[in-house]
Amino acid sequence: MKKLTSEQVKALLNSPQQVVIVPHVNPDGDAVGSSLGLYHYLIQKGHKVSVIVPNDYPAFLKWIPGTENIIQFNTQRERAEEKLDAAELVFTLDFNALHRSGPMQEVLEENNAIKIMIDHHQQPEDYANYTYSDVAMCSTAEMVYHFIEQMDDLAMMNKTIGAALYTGIMTDTASFRFPKTTSTTHRVVAHLMDLGVHHSDIHSKVYDANRFERIKLLGVALNNLTVLADLNTAYITLSQSELDQFGHQKGDTEGLVNYGLSVKGIKFAAIFIENKEEGIIKISLRSKGDFDVNLLAREHFNGGGHKNAAGGKSTLPLNETIEKFEHLVRTLKTDLQ
Ligand code: 5GP
Ligand code: MN
Repeated sequence: MKKLTSEQVKALLNSPQQVVIVPHVNPDGDAVGSSLGLYHYLIQKGHKVSVIVPNDYPAFLKWIPGTENIIQFNTQRERAEEKLDAAELVFTLDFNALHRSGPMQEVLEENNAIKIMIDHHQQPEDYANYTYSDVAMCSTAEMVYHFIEQMDDLAMMNKTIGAALYTGIMTDTASFRFPKTTSTTHRVVAHLMDLGVHHSDIHSKVYDANRFERIKLLGVALNNLTVLADLNTAYITLSQSELDQFGHQKGDTEGLVNYGLSVKGIKFAAIFIENKEEGIIKISLRSKGDFDVNLLAREHFNGGGHKNAAGGKSTLPLNETIEKFEHLVRTLKTDLQ
């Protein structure tokens, strides 16, 4: 595979290209925000650009400019494959391994376009012609800002690109509180605000868009919160029937795992969400300090992510998954003190 330098990428982007941008499956705020920020930048540069998401994403992101043009691979496969066949450049955003594109893995593996990865997850796979990977970054959206900077195009930054990138940075840092938020993150955001990005508007659009039923589901989740005090660990379970009772929709469970971590003294929090259709328990893991949930997710739950935020899955029933988890945490007791 031919590797490109950033100068070669810059030269490529200086003539019109057919571009496809792909974020990870079950796209979150950073996946969608970084993709749309890059989308608006590349359109301004004169490229033909499509964002193709592997599957649907939460309704609270659907106000971001450009969402109306997003192609959804699982429901618009023909259109998506046409764009991918014609693509000269494929950007993969906010993921580190092609299997994280879910249903798009095979078409991406077979696609002959030049691939550019922009991502902040650990252990990036070597599939791209140009890999911009930085695990110290708080979000892929901040990396898209720095990518535009590397292309010497910061003068093109505007309110539209900025709103998309702000959404990615805000959601992946949990509103600027996670440790990977740096003074540079704040300088980037200051620049976006100077261009007219409204931080409180965006916060409202993302976080004050709850359905009443979602708040009721939050009540169930909090009621199910279990604390293993001697292990500084907390976890939440949500069964399929509990989800069904409140007409569960995409995005409803996002962020719930953080409630476990908000209990005083807790260093490790998890949430287990039953998905009967896929026959799996979706697991989200969060930690504070040195406890490495990426490692745990990779070794025991067929997943991965970052040191303090990772995800995975289990094919065991919910109760057996919890038993496995509790047993595992007991063996890790010394790491959790
Ligand atoms: P979440 O718990 O919010 O789904 O994900 C937390 C972090 O772990 C995100 O950065 C996400 O990309 C990553 N992640 C979540 N699920 C998986 C998974 O099944 N496999 C891998 N490799 N990473 C995951
Ligand atoms: Mn991210």
